[in-house]
Amino acid sequence: MPMLEAQDLTVSYGRLEAVRKINFSVEAGQIVALVGSNGAGKSTTLKSIIGLMMPASGTLRFEGRDITTMGPAARVQAGIALSPEGRRLFGRMTVLDNLLAGAHGVASRQVVARMLDEIYTLFPRVQERRRQLAGSLSGGEQQMVAIGRALMANPKLLMLDEPSLGIAPKIVFEIAEAIKRINREKNMSIVLVEQNARLALRLAHNAYALENGEIIRAGKGAELLADPFIQKSYLGI
Ligand code: ATP
Repeated sequence: MPMLEAQDLTVSYGRLEAVRKINFSVEAGQIVALVGSNGAGKSTTLKSIIGLMMPASGTLRFEGRDITTMGPAARVQAGIALSPEGRRLFGRMTVLDNLLAGAHGVASRQVVARMLDEIYTLFPRVQERRRQLAGSLSGGEQQMVAIGRALMANPKLLMLDEPSLGIAPKIVFEIAEAIKRINREKNMSIVLVEQNARLALRLAHNAYALENGEIIRAGKGAELLADPFIQKSYLGI
């Protein structure tokens, strides 16, 4: 049984169907990439998985449970977390308070302390800057805090929306290494949405390419990297 399964999922903004009858799944312990150009429906898909948007039709199952109509707080409790596009940090709060905001529903202080420790090990810069206002950090450092904040919910499935967007190449490399570590060391499932298709497909076990709200390719990350259509459309080859 997959950890997450979407069946015939349609999500609309009014009359616009941003994703149309898409089917995909994420196995436990996998990194799954969603690639595609601007407006393809990637962010909408993540928003529907976390419950910020309700599907017009279709079903979502998480660990065998139907979560299609469940609210976002209950989905976080069930083990899903989202680091949103554009990071959405509280700029006038400290880095530490931003991280703690992600642990809102975690009752155990020990778990919170352990998660903080893990995030500081993963991103030593975040630890160095924990008393600074989040808004004073560089884009790359803010991205690390945003990933950390999602990790603070102690999820089983971590979803990352455009973690490389607008970030210096050296930091993109650090973030990619961190994504690999989170997956390997914690065996956490990850859904990675990226316009940087090369990066995402290199990291991913499995991948889907979305175009105009529909899945046009599905396969192993390496298979999509080698696919002539994907190369021409998204890799500039
Ligand atoms: P991007 O990287 O630009 O966010 P994306 O693949 O994540 O691209 P979505 O943001 O999911 O794409 O958008 C899918 C479609 O839905 C697009 O046609 C977009 O214009 C539309 N859309 C997105 N957000 C809204 C909204 N709040 N209201 C109306 N239409 C929207």
